[in-house]
Parts: sequence; C-alpha cells; structure tokens
Amino acid sequence: MTENSPAANVAVVGAGWAGLAAAVMLSERGIPVTAFEASRNLGGRARRVLLDGAELDNGQHILIGAYRETLALMRRVGADARELLLRLPLELRFAGGFHLRAPRLPYPLNLLIGLWFARGLDREQALAALRFMSRLKATGFRVEPDCSVAAFLEAHGQRGPLRTYLWEPLCVSALNTPPDRASAQVFANVVRDGLTGKRENSDLLLPRLDLGRTFPDPAAEFVKRHGGIIELGAAVHRIERDNNGFRLDDRPQRFGHVIIACAPQHALALIEGFPELEAVRTAIEALQYEPIYTCYLQYADSVRLSSPMVGFTGGLLQWAFDRGKTSGRPGLIAAVASASGAHEQLSQAEFTHGIHQELSGAMGDLPAPLWSRVIAEKRATFSCGIGLIRPPTRTNVAGLFLAGDYTASDYPGTLEAAVRSGASAARAVLENLP
Ligand SMILES: Cc1cc2nc3c(=O)[nH]c(=O)nc-3n(C[C@H](O)[C@H](O)[C@H](O)COP(=O)(O)OP(=O)(O)OC[C@H]3O[C@@H](n4cnc5c(N)ncnc54)[C@H](O)[C@@H]3O)c2cc1C
Repeated sequence: MTENSPAANVAVVGAGWAGLAAAVMLSERGIPVTAFEASRNLGGRARRVLLDGAELDNGQHILIGAYRETLALMRRVGADARELLLRLPLELRFAGGFHLRAPRLPYPLNLLIGLWFARGLDREQALAALRFMSRLKATGFRVEPDCSVAAFLEAHGQRGPLRTYLWEPLCVSALNTPPDRASAQVFANVVRDGLTGKRENSDLLLPRLDLGRTFPDPAAEFVKRHGGIIELGAAVHRIERDNNGFRLDDRPQRFGHVIIACAPQHALALIEGFPELEAVRTAIEALQYEPIYTCYLQYADSVRLSSPMVGFTGGLLQWAFDRGKTSGRPGLIAAVASASGAHEQLSQAEFTHGIHQELSGAMGDLPAPLWSRVIAEKRATFSCGIGLIRPPTRTNVAGLFLAGDYTASDYPGTLEAAVRSGASAARAVLENLP
C-alpha cells in the first residue's frame, strides 16, 4: 500500500482546535491529511473575528499552565507561547475587594501563602480551603458518586467568601456550568490539574494577540508545509463508506480514515449513515449546552482595570479583561458572562448597558464607551453536568474517529480538551495504519 492509496489518506472534518491538532500530528508523520472546514475561518469556537474593521476574538479565552498538550503543540507548530500569551501567576482580584495572589514559589507553598494572606478570607477560611484540597488529594481527586459542585462544596464546609470568590468562579470559568448543575468530579479534576502539582500549572495565560495567531494559523501553516491540505468553506454534509474507503459527499477522493472534529450538534448529522453508532448518537443527543457572552467595550485610552483580569459577583458580569494590559489595546475591556443565566433574556443594548453600569460601579463613573460589541455564543460548550457520558475517540466503525472538546476526557469543554481529543484521534489513526 502506498501513502497515496485511500487507506493512508485521512480526512479531518472541522478545523477547530481539535481538528487542527489532529491534522498537525498526522501531517508531521507524513500521513496525507485533508482538513475540511465549513467556515471561511480557522479555529471554530476559538477564532479571530472581524467586526466593522475591528479584529476581535469570538470570545475572551484564558488558558492555564496545566494545558500541557496545547502548549506542547503550540511549540511544535512554531507558535511561541512566551510571545503569544501573557503568563501571570495565579491572581484572583474581585471588584468587591477579595484578592488572592499566589507567589512564584513551589506548590504547595504558593497556595498556602496565597490563601493565608488573601484579602477577604480569614485564617479559618484559608485553613478550610487547604483542608478541602488535602482531602481531595487523599481520595485521589475521586468523587464517588458524582454530585453537583454546589452539594460537594457544602458537604466539605466550603462556604461564604471561599465559595463566592474562589470555588464558584473556578467552577463557572472552567466548566461553564452553574455550580448547582456542574459535575463535582470534573471540578475535582480541574482542581487537581490547575491548582496542584507544579506551580506553573496554576499560571494564567492570557492571549496577547488574536486567537487565530495563537494556534489555528500557525497550525494550518504547519500542516501545509508538511504536505497536508486545508480546505476552507468546505462543509461536509454526508459521510459514506464502501469497499474503497470513506467518501465525503460527492467528492472524488476516498479516505481510509475520517476524524469527525465538529461540535457535537454538527457531528450528529455526519454519523447519520452509520447504525453502528447508536450509542454515540444517544450520548450526543443527551448533551445540553451553555452559552458564553462576551461584551467588548472600547473606552478612552486612559480607562484601565486594576489588574489584567478582575472578577465580579452578583450581577451580569463574571470577569472583565483589560486588553490594554494584555494586548496593548488601551481602553478595550472584554467583559464575560459564562454559563446560562438571566442575561440571556436581555437585548444586546440592555446587556451592554448593564455591563457598563457594573464596570462603572466598580471603577468609579466611566464615560460612555466609544463603541461596544456583544458576541453571544449560544452553544459555547456542552453543559458539564453530573455523571455525563461522553463518547470516546474510537467508534464501532473501523476507520472512523471522533474528536472535539465533548469527547471522553476528564477535562471540561476547553481548548485543552479539544487539543487532547485531536491528539488522541491522531494517535488512534496511526495505530490503525498498516
Ligand atoms: C466564547 C467562548 C469562550 C471560551 N472560553 C474558553 C476559555 O477561556 N478557555 C478554554 O480553554 N476554553 C474556552 N472556550 C471553549 C473552547 O473554545 C472550545 O472548547 C474549543 O474551541 C472547542 O474546539 P473543538 O475543536 O472541539 O470544536 P469547534 O471549535 O466547534 O470546531 C469545530 C469546527 O468544525 C467546523 N464544522 C462544523 N460542522 C462542519 C461540517 N459539517 N463540515 C466541515 N466543518 C464543520 C466548525 O466550523 C468548526 O470550525 C470558550 C468557548 C467560547 C465559545
């Protein structure tokens, strides 16, 4: 069999972070790979958008030091994380006065000191947080049976400011799911990977440039340099298999392997022709989704937040990012409302006004923004609920694989889950090749 025979050809459907990760790993090993992307842009749910001439992201993203595979793959494709991401030690500063800053010391000293001296926590609460973490560690971060984050925190005596400023914001930011519905097991995984182990794991990494340049653009360039093909504006509607391999719609090429790397609601249509995939279909149909709204407000250059990222509670807004500090765009604030909530009922104008009021309340009267934009991603991620069954990479159809942030993983719907899933689909294809 030659590399150009259908058996060696791999099609990747979707060029989000998962699909691109798979394409990078396969092309690097000389496997002929073609990625088909429905839209004209790379990056899927983490992409650059052009709005009235302004280059923005479809939503403010944040990475953490524990995103091992994402950072490794960025390195492989020549995307320099030191240049592209502003790396800060864990710091949680809230408009209400709470402030926790983990010093650049090895774990667990960094957390111990961070919690002990956190403004807004008394010593008893700091100790309660440390006890909670050591109990989690002692049980291997296993939550059996899985329950809601809210119930789990309650059962472990995590109340008051600990809950308001530390655990619940962590849950909503990482799992994009309200604590009363979010899986305590996935939350425990996030605590394990993000707050324990090496100190660098808890670092916050804020994109300095647009998301396209952070990974999708260099990844696509890498794939092309290694002989792969990326087709934009190339939606796949149907996948069929016969003795010569997989066929995508009426395209003439045949592929020995296909990786479906679309968001779950789009993957459903592509598995329609495969009755063997009933369990995958059931798992995808059971998923629910959570939105993320990002409101960009461009103020005068002199408007600054006290930190690159400031938390808010009790209103519409959860985090505000100062893009002047992170990306050299003075006066530009990206305000984020994660997960479902009352804000979904507001018009864009009402939402923007509410965000402006909350920022004004915290920073002193602000002049009206020069311009503002709301990007509402209604299905930003799957809802990371209790005991969720997520479909695995390998399917019952030989040669057909799934990738995407929703596939089986101990991570919630994040860039790292997407990249890991793409890498795992690529590894499965490689193992399958003769
Ligand atoms: C607003 C917002 C903020 C977020 N913030 C964070 C954050 O701070 N940190 C974090 O880690 N994660 C964050 N996430 C989650 C993260 O962006 C996603 O988990 C990740 O991008 C998912 O990648 P994916 O490749 O699995 O899927 P997608 O990005 O959905 O990629 C799938 C691709 O497939 C394409 N496609 C679909 N159907 C077809 C078809 N039939 N044919 C061809 N192509 C098709 C789509 O156009 C898309 O490009 C955020 C998400 C959003 C929306």
